[in-house]
Amino acid sequence: MTHTAGGPALPQERKIITAIPGPKSAELLARRNAAVSAGVSGMMPVFAVAAGDGVIVDVDGNSFIDMGAGIAVTNVGNAAPKVVEAVQQQVAAFTHTCFMVTPYSGYVEVCEQLNELTPGTHAKKSALFNSGAEAVENAVKVARAYTKRQAVVVFEHGYHGRTNMTMAMTAKNMPYKHSFGPFASEVYRVPVAYPFRDERSGAEVAAAAISRMDKEVGASNIAAIVIEPIQGEGGFIAPTAGFLPAIVEFAKANGIVFVADEIQTGFCRTGQWFACEHEGIVPDLITTAKGIAGGLPLAGLTGRAEIMDSVHAGGLGGTYGGNPIACAAAIASIETMKELDLNAKAKAIEELMMPRLKAMQSKFSVIGDVRGRGAMIALEMIKPGSMDPNPEVTSAVAKGCHAAGVVVLTAGTYGNVLRFLPALTMPHHLLAEALDEIEKQFSIATA
Ligand SMILES: *Cc1c(COP(=O)(O)O)cnc(C)c1O
Repeated sequence: MTHTAGGPALPQERKIITAIPGPKSAELLARRNAAVSAGVSGMMPVFAVAAGDGVIVDVDGNSFIDMGAGIAVTNVGNAAPKVVEAVQQQVAAFTHTCFMVTPYSGYVEVCEQLNELTPGTHAKKSALFNSGAEAVENAVKVARAYTKRQAVVVFEHGYHGRTNMTMAMTAKNMPYKHSFGPFASEVYRVPVAYPFRDERSGAEVAAAAISRMDKEVGASNIAAIVIEPIQGEGGFIAPTAGFLPAIVEFAKANGIVFVADEIQTGFCRTGQWFACEHEGIVPDLITTAKGIAGGLPLAGLTGRAEIMDSVHAGGLGGTYGGNPIACAAAIASIETMKELDLNAKAKAIEELMMPRLKAMQSKFSVIGDVRGRGAMIALEMIKPGSMDPNPEVTSAVAKGCHAAGVVVLTAGTYGNVLRFLPALTMPHHLLAEALDEIEKQFSIATA
């Protein structure tokens, strides 16, 4: 496969030829530590020079299997040929005019695509931003303007970003919120139906959450309910069946704007264009980012036309929002998703990974749960014979994989989840090799 337009193919192989980090990475690491804020963490001790589909190549010539896709961003693969070509053409034509000053067609086309691809057949409108957090902030602005209410309801284990409003909406203290308060007000957190840790039905947990909204916030004060249809940073928690539809029903009955944060789950990641489709729910507003533009920074807010149009002219926007290069990349990414049928590829990844991971679960008692949809799959680790989280073994397996040339990510409120988010173009032989390595690291960590 070719990974740069017209350039040489990047071999789809794991190849570790130096110690990790190698000498060139070690030198850059020292410069990084001297120049970059200590507040910006770094998981891998190596520096990238090229990446495509299943691999990341570092400055010392090591080739890693990439099971993270830059946190669910390069769904179409890194440097996907169509994206590279579209970006090159756009960057040569013009880089920026500001859509609010002199508009261009790419922005409009991305909005048209979002309006068409997101769930529901009602009239929709969109607006574009730079980051996921910014899209979530704007969802709150729009919902408040439309309802003339203030309260925002979010869920345990939820993650929505690192700005002040979205920190308030995010559940986990470390590392996202610690020492950064005070946070935005009028944000209320209620329980989510977490199948592995809660035996109640989705309807029962929804009833408890709804009672909290009714009694502690007051339904008529709530502007928006914001939830990830599968919680990402929280540990790939797909709420128990029946939970999301009951919450949607409550929102509808009470004039509350229901917002699906599909920033991590969107764009074929779960084997559907959007994860809401698995539950058959139709959000009023939907936020998108990560997978939308093949790695360029772009985010979207899409929703019912009457809600999106309820804001006064000039109320939404920003200097860079919907940058023309990012829009060109998004259009090419969406084309690539359709052409390569990446929903089918996500399902094929699930079919390959799930049986292997379930077999590991029966072998290693530290693996408490195997879950996920499409190419969004996780393992939750416990202390054997209990439900106590096991972040120690999780981190040992992750570190072992990194040293052996497989990039895996962790997640979860308790830091006890290994999550897998490969590019949807990941070759299956590399996926199988990554699974072999993960299994080997469990053997070592539990020996
Ligand atoms: C990553 C993420 C965000 C924040 O996106 P940024 O682009 O990092 O600001 C918000 N919500 C969810 C569900 C995410 O996964």
